[in-house]
Amino acid sequence: MEGCLTARDRVGIQDFVLLDAYTSESAVLDNLRKRFNENLIYTYIGTLLVSVNPYKELGIYTKKQMDIYMGVNYFELPPHIYALADNVYRTMLTEANNHFILISGESGAGKTEASKKILQFYAVSCPSTKLLDNVRDRLLLSNPVLEAFGNAKTLKNDNSSRFGKYMDIQFDHMGGAVGGHILSYLLEKSRVVHQNHGERSFHIFYQLVEGGEEDLLRWLGLERNCQRYSYLVQGECAKVSSVNDKSDWKTVRKALSVIEFSENNIESLFAIIASVLHLGNVTFVADSQGYATLNNSPEIHWLSTVRHVGLTHRKIEARSEEVLSPFTVDHAVYARDALAKAIYGRTFTWLVNELNESLENKDSSRKTVIGLLDIYGFEVFSVNSFEQFCINYCNEKLQQLFIQLTLKSEQEEYEMEGIEWESVPYFNNKIICDLVEEKFKGIISVLDEECLRPGEATDMTFLEKLEEKMGGHPHFVTHKLADQKTRKTLERGDFRLLHYAGEVTYCVVGFLDKNNDLLYRNIKEVSVPRTLAGTVATQFKSSLVGLTEILMSKEPWYVRCMKPNEGKQPGHFDDVLVRHQVKYLGLMEHLRVRRAGFAYRRRYEIFLQRYKPLCPDTWPNWKGTAAEGVECLIKHLGYKPDEYKMGRTKIFIRHPRTLFSTEDAFEV
Ligand code: ATP
Ligand code: MG
Repeated sequence: MEGCLTARDRVGIQDFVLLDAYTSESAVLDNLRKRFNENLIYTYIGTLLVSVNPYKELGIYTKKQMDIYMGVNYFELPPHIYALADNVYRTMLTEANNHFILISGESGAGKTEASKKILQFYAVSCPSTKLLDNVRDRLLLSNPVLEAFGNAKTLKNDNSSRFGKYMDIQFDHMGGAVGGHILSYLLEKSRVVHQNHGERSFHIFYQLVEGGEEDLLRWLGLERNCQRYSYLVQGECAKVSSVNDKSDWKTVRKALSVIEFSENNIESLFAIIASVLHLGNVTFVADSQGYATLNNSPEIHWLSTVRHVGLTHRKIEARSEEVLSPFTVDHAVYARDALAKAIYGRTFTWLVNELNESLENKDSSRKTVIGLLDIYGFEVFSVNSFEQFCINYCNEKLQQLFIQLTLKSEQEEYEMEGIEWESVPYFNNKIICDLVEEKFKGIISVLDEECLRPGEATDMTFLEKLEEKMGGHPHFVTHKLADQKTRKTLERGDFRLLHYAGEVTYCVVGFLDKNNDLLYRNIKEVSVPRTLAGTVATQFKSSLVGLTEILMSKEPWYVRCMKPNEGKQPGHFDDVLVRHQVKYLGLMEHLRVRRAGFAYRRRYEIFLQRYKPLCPDTWPNWKGTAAEGVECLIKHLGYKPDEYKMGRTKIFIRHPRTLFSTEDAFEV
């Protein structure tokens, strides 16, 4: 396998743990840049994989590449996503336990691509039978379906995932992929009714209008023209050069069939998507009393009468009787958009359930899983709202998990091997998680309380309550609470959280509304039978608790994706942007943890296998245990006693320089 390595593959250092100046952000950055300029987008920190989006095809995801990485020791080849995938898979098989790969990074950094590469690797490398191939196809095809309904063009990414995704791949004891399960988080429903300039709604709408068969469109009452649909042109960019809606439609249509959605279900699915488009074209005019009436548009024909009532009147209870109260035009527009969002949100949930049904493995034999978590990274915009608040809270939780799992497992390993542990100072972000989520006291609780006072509470009263309760908290500040210098940087309607990854200022406007996700009662009854339990933030909080539990029971692996520049350009490495990501992706922290005490550890067998050619006098005639072999080898290599420790099953090397010079000995 060594033969596969070229001099170019060795540019820079392929594992940051081997970097001499490992505490220096600049040194980390230099190494990343050097490698990126040679199209080496992957670098390790121990077993963590750092990936920098090349924004071009590199030809490194071929079947040949997969073959090269299959079943080879992790550190023997240049870093690659396949090496990580293979390592996780083989560890799962030998240790018969569960794993997850957390893929993080900001929008456009390459998370979804990375998760697809991993899935594709398993699709090719796992055992194949007719039955297994069927599961494999479903697993692979769930991606284009979910992307059609859950991804959209944004300013940052032409194929941006607008939901968080966790996918379990289940394996039998032979390593065959036998099933899967998907969990989705916080779909950005508001995109259905509104898109910023230069952005689109979810791909599926454009795919249907552009690619839908003539008969289907006629049946749905749709024209083949995106410009006709108000919900599709809010961002004024229905066409995207990098996206082919027509051919994507074909892929999705085919995928739905392979996944065995019934024709009935497929028809209903598109009827719902079409009804959202029709709904968006419904307009209102004020009658003589200022109340909303439906404007005479052809769209009305496609919506049921009962929904018309829902759009212009609200059902209220008065003295145990239900009466219809008319809406103003503004209210009617609000109700229309709320209905469209709710329909789409429920459809997405339904779709995920259907996919799960199709991926479910009903056989009760023991399975092990590899979970793939492709979740939104930390977000900071010039104006940050409720969505960023939820996303950044999610990242705080994941950071907390990282701290617990990484430090914990590190500690456990030293204990198990009988090696003394030197603890690493790190910032524990539990204080911020508590600030957001603590029962009765946290920001989410205060928000929920305010949502229970309709008519009285506003976004500003929410902010005042926060100031009352959080005043003095070291990670919370508002205009009123700030010192003079900080005050200048805050507006009156803002609150600022000092996240582990940096400061974010949130504008409270819309917090109550978005948290309530309000649907007037009669619309809810008509179109969306399940009542909304709780509020958005609380639901999100409990789904994150669920996710944390799922992850805590598994072995963690990490892929940190980075964007080289904001312009989606190949070959351009923006130092400031990358440095920022190095910081908030916690790379320096991870590096410190890996370097603390002993930077490297290898099982005796593997260490021996790799380095015994450096001692040709002794091998191949050596007879003895691997541990004895390693003792003999390092004596030959001249390791000093304080440079290493012998554990029960592994050798621990304190300083990477030691290993580095051993590696160099190959080249002499
Ligand atoms: P979001 O959070 O918005 O969903 P993301 O991190 O999932 O973003 P991707 O959709 O995976 O980002 O990647 C954005 C684009 O970058 C891809 O559509 C592709 O063009 C390019 N890209 C990502 N990874 C790679 C790669 N390894 N090789 C080549 N191009 C890539
Ligand atoms: Mg994505």
